[in-house]
Amino acid sequence: MSRILIIEDEEAIADLEKDYLELSGFEVQIENRGDQGLQTAMNHEFDLIILDLMLPGMDGFEVCRRIREARNVPILMVSAKKDDIDKIRGLGLGADDYMTKPFSPSELVARVKAHMARYQRLVGAGQKTNDIIEIRGLKIDKTARRVYIDGVEKNFTTKEFDLLTFLAENPNHVFSKEELFRKIWNMESVGDIATVTVHIKKIREKVEFDTSKPQYIETIWGVGYRFKI
Ligand code: CA
Repeated sequence: MSRILIIEDEEAIADLEKDYLELSGFEVQIENRGDQGLQTAMNHEFDLIILDLMLPGMDGFEVCRRIREARNVPILMVSAKKDDIDKIRGLGLGADDYMTKPFSPSELVARVKAHMARYQRLVGAGQKTNDIIEIRGLKIDKTARRVYIDGVEKNFTTKEFDLLTFLAENPNHVFSKEELFRKIWNMESVGDIATVTVHIKKIREKVEFDTSKPQYIETIWGVGYRFKI
């Protein structure tokens, strides 16, 4: 459940905000002083903070600045005075949004939801994504070292995976068996290059619909193999 911290000294307003946000499924905590609000914000994880400007203990300007130094959490600043909102914007304290009191609880809820959705997208975008090659129905997840055909995972040995991935990363390039043997088996081509043929056959059995008419790895007679795209 998403958690929201309200830092607001007018208890009636804080309670009203809390009621509406709880009805919308959020978990809400209230702090009535700026300094205590800052401490709570620093010591716990919240998904969004609603911050009043005029507060006892420490004003909202300072609370916002200090939270922003340490945390990425969206901050929605509220004030009774339009002039204050303009001032906050001018200071560039890093608040994500501003609302002038009085505002309707439903407007607050709508804004909170919009910021959370935006924040989730940003956080999601920052996460590392897997390195994936997708060609027609074939999907190679290089990070997880997994292969899928039309969404169905196929089991690959290490060398089969390396060979398929190497070919798929160099599409339309013809490689001789000797070249592939050197690349994948990491040895001088004094070994048995027939092992390349055996591996190609196994890969085809896993990825091709009809191994007699390969869609992915094509045999170039007398030369070697290429990955078709
Ligand atoms: Ca206040």
